Amino acid sequence: MDCLFCKIVAGEIPARKLYEDDQIIAFHDIAPQAPVHFLLIPKRHIATLNDLKESDKPLAGHLLYSAQRLASEQGCEKGFRLVMNCNDLGGQTVHHIHMHVLGQRQLHWPPG
Ligand code: 5GP
Ligand code: ZN
Repeated sequence: MDCLFCKIVAGEIPARKLYEDDQIIAFHDIAPQAPVHFLLIPKRHIATLNDLKESDKPLAGHLLYSAQRLASEQGCEKGFRLVMNCNDLGGQTVHHIHMHVLGQRQLHWPPG
């Protein structure tokens, strides 16, 4: 599978990991857009949010809850942003689903 994030899961490409369990992994973004910017991904390859199945709901919940826990651990309990880009039109460049967690700076809306 020619997928960058599957290679990170497999340890073939190094990443600065924050958290790992049997289902998910979290690591710092290589091009951070905020003082805290990490990604949470399922270990199993799911290309886009459109490919999420009903049976993936527990996994999606685990990702969401872990985002909140890790954001707090990174000192972002006062506020942070969670982003999931879906497909090229949504700005997704790596086609293995991931949540961006951004924090430790004032964020604005709309994002621009
Ligand atoms: P997307 O645009 O798909 O939502 O976000 C992909 C993210 O992956 C970008 O923020 C980008 O900086 C990050 N990224 C791309 N390649 C690598 C890499 O090799 N290592 C890490 N840690 N992050 C990466
Ligand atoms: Zn993958």
